[in-house]
Amino acid sequence: MANLWRGVLHEYADRLDVTEKTPIITLGEGGTPLIEAPALSKRTGARVWVKFEGMNPTGSFKDRGMTMAISKAVEAGAKAVICASTGNTSASAAAYAAHAGITAAVLVPEGKIAMGKLSQAVVHDGSLIQIQGNFDDCLDIARELAEHYPVHLVNSVNNDRIEGQKTAAFEIVDVLGDAPDFHYIPVGNAGNYTAYTRGYTEALGHGDSTTLPRMFGFSAAGSAPIVTGQVVKNPETIASAIRIGNPASWELALAAREATNGYFGAIEDAKILEAQKILAAEVGIFVEPASAISVAGLLERADAGQVPAGSRIVLTVTGHGLKDPQWALRAADGSDITPTVVKAETTEVASVLGLAKAGA
Ligand SMILES: *Cc1c(COP(=O)(O)O)cnc(C)c1O
Repeated sequence: MANLWRGVLHEYADRLDVTEKTPIITLGEGGTPLIEAPALSKRTGARVWVKFEGMNPTGSFKDRGMTMAISKAVEAGAKAVICASTGNTSASAAAYAAHAGITAAVLVPEGKIAMGKLSQAVVHDGSLIQIQGNFDDCLDIARELAEHYPVHLVNSVNNDRIEGQKTAAFEIVDVLGDAPDFHYIPVGNAGNYTAYTRGYTEALGHGDSTTLPRMFGFSAAGSAPIVTGQVVKNPETIASAIRIGNPASWELALAAREATNGYFGAIEDAKILEAQKILAAEVGIFVEPASAISVAGLLERADAGQVPAGSRIVLTVTGHGLKDPQWALRAADGSDITPTVVKAETTEVASVLGLAKAGA
């Protein structure tokens, strides 16, 4: 019989604050593939795996935190939730609220949300409001609304989100039989960086692993406040999911870096797109630009001689490529990629493909 994955709250009930009173709102999130990536191992001399979080129900890791946050909100009697979002949180909040039969209000920066994510929030019947400001403005407003009105905040400043997201680290330890030596991850609000650190720390305490990975987090160069040590007033990057100038989990992330002997780095947009292409064309995994920064970060560290040979490295890729597909259709020089058009004749197609007839 098939082994049905029951979602992270059921699978890791003993490691989370869920009781028989908690109504478990799940879409079957988690249990995502950990894919070995020989092409990246060959490029870096390490042994590399990719944790493909685009395989979650709404296409990003946000579902791990949202199942927890919405379940706890419903347990507390909430009828409405609110969040600020660069796109994926709104998609996830709208889907889980729909499943729970409550309403979700989502605040997004005007014109800065990928089409796939926008359509998810709309189709799941979220109350979507575009704010004439950036993500950081959206979060300020969402926090104030939650303080003064009957709506429950489900951003990652809500600890339930971090708790749900830590389960990804448990899965990696379960599959590898131990923690890796390094873990690479994109950084926006740094909630996920914090969550993995917590998950790995708990796995170590629980005796499931023997080591704590060094946590390497990467931000886009135009949006890298933790790297520069300063709030970025107008963050800019094509990686819209991590266009954040004042990370909500900044302090927690600095503590996590300290605890794991970790690292924060910044990557230019051109390198992010190059890495997206490498991951898709050489490993077979299509991710959105923000997610590709894990790969770009690994290649950058390898170039800098900072990837020990044979070390075991896991990269989290956070969201599916179909969320924001436009970047895949752009060539490195910025021009559009258009497929070749050929007449409906076999010999012509063979010739365009460079195929010689068998036996000829
Ligand atoms: C939310 C998100 C991130 C950033 O995660 P943080 O916890 O805010 O650091 C990265 N990639 C994708 C695809 C996301 O949706």
